[in-house]
Amino acid sequence: MNGIGFNKIILPRYVYTGPNVIKELPLIFHHLALSKGNILLISGKGETASISNDSVKPLLESEGIEAETMEIESMRNFVDNLPEMIHKVKDSDPKIILGVGGGKAIDSAKLLASITNKRLISVPTNASHDGLSSPVISFVLNLYLRKKFDLKMELKAPVAIVADINFIKNCPKKSLVAGVGDLLAKKTAVKDWELAYMLRNEEYSEYAASMALMSARLIEDNINEIAKFDERSISIILKALIGSGIGISVAGSSRPASGSEHLFSHALDILSEEYGFKAELHGIQVGIGTIVMSQLHGLNHKKIRDLLKKVGAATNAKELGIDREYLIKALMMSNKIRRDRYTILGDADISYNAAEKLLKRAEVI
Ligand SMILES: [Zn+2]
Repeated sequence: MNGIGFNKIILPRYVYTGPNVIKELPLIFHHLALSKGNILLISGKGETASISNDSVKPLLESEGIEAETMEIESMRNFVDNLPEMIHKVKDSDPKIILGVGGGKAIDSAKLLASITNKRLISVPTNASHDGLSSPVISFVLNLYLRKKFDLKMELKAPVAIVADINFIKNCPKKSLVAGVGDLLAKKTAVKDWELAYMLRNEEYSEYAASMALMSARLIEDNINEIAKFDERSISIILKALIGSGIGISVAGSSRPASGSEHLFSHALDILSEEYGFKAELHGIQVGIGTIVMSQLHGLNHKKIRDLLKKVGAATNAKELGIDREYLIKALMMSNKIRRDRYTILGDADISYNAAEKLLKRAEVI
């Protein structure tokens, strides 16, 4: 084999972005030979439930496609009721599962589709992270799952992504800001991957790495446009997120999209569970992590901070609304969270003083 193993790439077949692209859904079903049979719509509560019930469901029904709905209250609630939900999906046997929403609904749909071996379509209603197009679920959902179940399965990437800007333009501005943070993160994530490739002989795909970097570049080059937060901004963020998600599919792991900056954010999520403070959106925390880790990688951390500032993202503890002590703690534990993910943080203990010094130098605390 000479170290060259089998490589499997499963990519979305249909990617639609733009105003009113939801109208293309019946055509996509037709292409997928799914014109007959029922489908399952999974949304959150509130706004995403209205989009699912008032826009998506009637559109499908007008085409003679029967649609059942499921609303997800919270990640924790979803995990608590997972066996029951799996049972429901198996019972109704939908031809396809559509996740309509942000992280929660799409992650839940992705997980259920993977467990029950159904095809998945992603209909994002915000643009805050690359999970909308990738075969990866959020760290928080994984955390809840690991506590309750011993699940080992390959997660599915969506077979189609239908990102209707008319839905996304009503999402909170903060979730778009988070999307920017999650995308700039690829700069440090790819550096970490290169390091793991060189020091740990980890598998590396230049193609996947370039896709991730291209997504970050799209944000950098268009930051002034993005800061307007209009339809064009959303379209740029979406394209970059979809590109990053596809990079994950090409790599067969979240490696190109998630490095030490993500570990730092995961650590904050764990601490928020433990100490009861409110964690920020994934991409906002990741943005702060990117400032810190870019300094270690010898990248221009001030430039990263300026890019984040341009879109009004939090760049320090105060703006993040999380106590500095938790940020120090998070940095200290970052390199212990995923032993399989080697990064610039190495694997030796990080002392309180070292963590504090690094965060201060990055002007995060
Ligand atoms: Zn991310």
